[in-house]
Amino acid sequence: SISKAEGTPYSFFTKQTQSTIEKRYLLESHLVDALKNKELSLQYQPLVSLRSKEIIGAEALLRWNNPILGSVPPDKFISLAEHNGQIIDIGNFVLHTALSQAAQWRLQRNSNFRIAINISPLQFRDTNFAEHISNLLALYRLPANCLELEITEGILLQDEEIAKRTISQLQRLGIRISLDDFGTGYSSLSYLQKYAFNTLKIDRCFITNLEKNIQDRELTKAIIAMSKKLNMNVIAEGVESEAQDLFIRDEDCDYGQGYLYGKPADADMFEQRYISQNASH
Ligand code: C2E
Ligand code: MG
Ligand code: MG
Ligand code: MG
Repeated sequence: SISKAEGTPYSFFTKQTQSTIEKRYLLESHLVDALKNKELSLQYQPLVSLRSKEIIGAEALLRWNNPILGSVPPDKFISLAEHNGQIIDIGNFVLHTALSQAAQWRLQRNSNFRIAINISPLQFRDTNFAEHISNLLALYRLPANCLELEITEGILLQDEEIAKRTISQLQRLGIRISLDDFGTGYSSLSYLQKYAFNTLKIDRCFITNLEKNIQDRELTKAIIAMSKKLNMNVIAEGVESEAQDLFIRDEDCDYGQGYLYGKPADADMFEQRYISQNASH
């Protein structure tokens, strides 16, 4: 048994491996019923225009709260949902919830409100994806230009032809596409050559150490300048301090997102904190 062998490198390795597999299994077995049991919800985090300092919209962020596991962060469960295919249903839940919320806020509060939604590779691989999105926009009576879909390099790695076609179909409809977590993947620059993104989101890892690290400052400057030259909007993610805000504004970055401007909040809280005072009528 494990207890007998305790102390040897083998048992240590076995115990570690087993507990990882058990944890994964535990998460997966609860995740299967998460939608049905209404354990999934969305939070919204403000997207801020650095020129006007106004909140122009929000990114929808998925949350899972399970009675036994507590709150499980998306980095822990989205890959599981991708693995077992559940991400399709979960992704549709996210699309419906975020779009109907955006429609409500646009009608009642701010007619220019924009919504950004994260899309997983499996959703994107569906050859009818653009049509699906177009139907959802019609269902919630939303104009295409209020929607920004956030994708990561994973989507582009899998099937270049499908990705290219879907991106251009979506853009022809007027939907914006942003490349999320820019700078953290493998060959970001070649993707910029192949695809015409509307927006780049500079990964938080560049922003976090702006004050301390000259390399990060230079890289951030270069990414912002490059975005402008390639006619893309640019968003800095993970802005937490006034100094970071000052730096990216000096570099003429378009938008910011981060705890400095607002943490993700559930719909009611978001509305109270960020939309009421900006009401357009
Ligand atoms: P992301 O799309 O890059 O989202 C930004 C993440 O950074 C969010 O983490 C957000 O809470 C966090 N963040 C924002 N500002 C700050 C800051 O100032 N400091 C720090 N330390 N963190 C900040 P979250 O909500 O845990 O989401 C993690 C990732 O999970 C997302 O990264 C996205 O890749 C994925 N995700 C979230 N919701 C969905 C979804 O509905 N569908 C899919 N496919 N993926 C999702
Ligand atoms: Mg995102
Ligand atoms: Mg990101
Ligand atoms: Mg991320």
